[in-house]
Amino acid sequence: MTHLPRSGRSLVAVFLLACGGVTACAVDAEDDAPITGDGDGTVANEEEIVSERQLMGSELPDKTLTLTFDDGPGRRTAELADYLAAQGIEGTFFINGNKVPGRQAALDTVAGRGHLVANHTQTHRALTRLSRAEVVREVEETDAVITSVQRGRISALRAPFGAWNGAATSALNGSSMRKYVGSVFWDVGGALTSTAAADWDCWGKGVSVSRCGDLYLQEARRRGRGIVLMHDVHDRTVDLVKYLVPKLQADGFRFARLEDVPSVKRATASAGGPAPTDGCSSATLGRTVAENACVQSRRDETWYRCVAGDWVLASATDARCTSRTGL
Ligand SMILES: [Zn+2]
Repeated sequence: MTHLPRSGRSLVAVFLLACGGVTACAVDAEDDAPITGDGDGTVANEEEIVSERQLMGSELPDKTLTLTFDDGPGRRTAELADYLAAQGIEGTFFINGNKVPGRQAALDTVAGRGHLVANHTQTHRALTRLSRAEVVREVEETDAVITSVQRGRISALRAPFGAWNGAATSALNGSSMRKYVGSVFWDVGGALTSTAAADWDCWGKGVSVSRCGDLYLQEARRRGRGIVLMHDVHDRTVDLVKYLVPKLQADGFRFARLEDVPSVKRATASAGGPAPTDGCSSATLGRTVAENACVQSRRDETWYRCVAGDWVLASATDARCTSRTGL
């Protein structure tokens, strides 16, 4: 999770950047499930849901879109992957790992057609409501699914509902999942209004494929560029894409890969680097220890030093570490 600048220790200042300044950060649930008032007593307000900076496509060149599909694989995902490939479009599929059993062939088709398989977590829970361990597990489980079908591509994460905050960032940065860039947000497709659409809401409200497509087209024209959000878990969304893409092409729109979105590019350049927070999480001690601290693994009695937020094997030359008896 490396979209946060590495240099600054002042995470607070970083977080204050929030979504302001980019496109409107009014966030609608990207799915059928409401993000607020779900009856479990943990109502989250909109500000809390999207309080951290996310990756958007507002810096793409004029008339350039990146198509993204969430919550799959669905029944028609393979058909969609074939269609996009035939159009020369490389899409991004943010999958939920728990949707893959029974649909492995669809996932294979997505990867096989050259689309990017990306992480939308294992069970689509709001990461902002989970413990650090749960956040990491949600991403890790789906990561295992992704790496079984795709190698050598970027690791991209989109938080379910766009629910993202510093705690989720920090949890992932303190784990091997910090190789991910994200959370990848969207510029087009966030809400159903009189001049824009969100596919899942179209289908829920009985809006036709052509009407929904025309609204997507309107928003794309108005913004001129951006990351487009759709959901391949819905059958009708495949019809929507087949309706919309020729209209966008006729309008002169081009389609960029997610890797080529400037904000994603910048995040990728720093991905996998040291965690922005000081300290390392120690399973041996059951807590986070300070930068430069040494810990002896309970499992193999090897010494490790916490360097730039990551455990580094203490070499024979690191006598100050290996000679210590413990913390
Ligand atoms: Zn989703």
